[in-house]
Amino acid sequence: MKFLRLTEYFEQLEATTKRLEMFNILAELFREASPKEIDKIIYLSQGQLLPPFKGIEIGMSEKLLIRAISDATGTTTKRVEDIFKQAGDLGKVAEELVKGKGGGVSTDKVYEELMDIAQTSGAGSVEKKIGLLSNLFNGVSSREAKYIARFVIGRLRLGIGDPTVLEALALAQGDRALRPELERAYNLCSDLGLVAKTLLDKGMEGIKKFRIHVGYPIRMALCERLPSSEEIITKIGKAAVEAKYDGFRCQIHKEKAKVEIFSRNLERTTHMFPEITEAARNYLAVKTTIFEGEALAYNEATGELFPFQVTIQRKRKHGIEELAKEYPLKFFAFELLYADGKDYTEKPYIERRGKLEAIIKKNPVIEPAEMFVTDNPKKIYEYFEEAIERGLEGVVAKRLDAPYAAGARNFNWIKLKRSYRGELADTIDVCIVGYFRGKGARARFGVGALLGAVYDEETDTFKTVSKVGSGFTEDEFVQLKKILDEIALTHKHPRVDSVMESDVWIEPRYVVTVTADEITRSPSHTAGRDREGIGYALRFPRAIGFLRTDKKPEDANSVKEVIEMFEQQKKVKVS
Ligand code: AMP
Repeated sequence: MKFLRLTEYFEQLEATTKRLEMFNILAELFREASPKEIDKIIYLSQGQLLPPFKGIEIGMSEKLLIRAISDATGTTTKRVEDIFKQAGDLGKVAEELVKGKGGGVSTDKVYEELMDIAQTSGAGSVEKKIGLLSNLFNGVSSREAKYIARFVIGRLRLGIGDPTVLEALALAQGDRALRPELERAYNLCSDLGLVAKTLLDKGMEGIKKFRIHVGYPIRMALCERLPSSEEIITKIGKAAVEAKYDGFRCQIHKEKAKVEIFSRNLERTTHMFPEITEAARNYLAVKTTIFEGEALAYNEATGELFPFQVTIQRKRKHGIEELAKEYPLKFFAFELLYADGKDYTEKPYIERRGKLEAIIKKNPVIEPAEMFVTDNPKKIYEYFEEAIERGLEGVVAKRLDAPYAAGARNFNWIKLKRSYRGELADTIDVCIVGYFRGKGARARFGVGALLGAVYDEETDTFKTVSKVGSGFTEDEFVQLKKILDEIALTHKHPRVDSVMESDVWIEPRYVVTVTADEITRSPSHTAGRDREGIGYALRFPRAIGFLRTDKKPEDANSVKEVIEMFEQQKKVKVS
């Protein structure tokens, strides 16, 4: 197809406001396209060169485009800018200034040249990009120039979403009922160009036989939500209950030594996770696989997981290696989608899980997500409470006989979360009653985390409320060790009430101020314990500053205050 012809379609699409009309125009365009070019036509109409997961960007700014128009047309950049000020659209500027006859160039050719521009990088690439674009303008007509200009700065905006393309492809086949099959193929590869090409090359038979392609992200399954564990069991019966980790969802594709990682929105994020890539390469008992899970920063000292605010620091381009040392990641694998030629998305959960566990060899990074099977709502709730206290987001219950629903949100997966989130409105002063030596890198300081307690006026005792492992610098940990060892005891102090066994008990003397995301119910701490043994705990505690030498142990916050704060946060619904 000539590029000029494609731009005629673009004009029609731009002119319509009705969805049905849009489907019809697109269907006509797809019918006219050859199998060789259909993928490129689809990408171009959506304002891209390849699907987003390929990570190709053309990287032209308005400024560069202005220079290319100026070079191609012999107009000064000042004049191009002036026209731009009036028109407000560089597409229109290009249309006005580029006066070629055009019409001779094919869509394939334009695509190829745009791809060249995108792939030009390194020293002198700016000038090269301008040169290539200016050449392209030289061979086209006004209308072609208009759309090329808009395309290179990401302003094509024809408003063609993925579902629209699927609908139009079905329509082009003369049968809207074909859409679910096309959608299935799309869910397996996230690449509309590939789906359309398969359709034109091999017909609907090809689409029905469409299989997973390692290296092409599978559109991720999502959770529904129910408010209670009872409702979950009523809905799906006996279920697999997994911890809900609050980190980065990752879909890992491994083909021999080649590993790629895709995010929830199907962007390539491999560079963010060197230690996971490495582990996937070395510790899986399969050559080729696709699996999913959640990556989280993790505290080697306490074995606890960090909150999302810490994990998210990984979202950067540079300095990843240093960050990987400071905040190593754990990867909790929760789904197996593909292994050595076998598509597991269609297998029931329990079979996927069995195989997933079987292929992960012992290693320090990747492990299966916590999971147990139950039909008892009380068990789910207890686990949920415990999970929250440990810094997890809640639980996800999964239907045992359900397939992996690529690209769908349904009740095969049900999440149970807290209805509020965020940081406690107030800080809490806790009295240190013991400490834990810590593991991993922290062990060398001798202190990895403190055991903090609040004051119970009624019994004049200190009841534990939190383990505090973050918020101190390395220096401060070294100092803490010295200071606390001076008041170390051989056993728990009689005024301390704790179910947690601290590595070293100390006399209640020092107070630290901590902040936390929220207060949760927990069986691990004694503050505010009820008859069933459930107390209160801080979620994601972190120390602010060092020891509060201005406060006596009894000046720590009280159990009563913690309960009040818990009651209050219930009223604040944030999400
Ligand atoms: P939400 O974003 O609240 O709808 O919850 C869905 C997200 O929870 C998924 O996209 C995953 O990133 C995350 N998640 C954490 N743990 C699990 C798990 N065990 N199973 C499925 N998703 C999980």
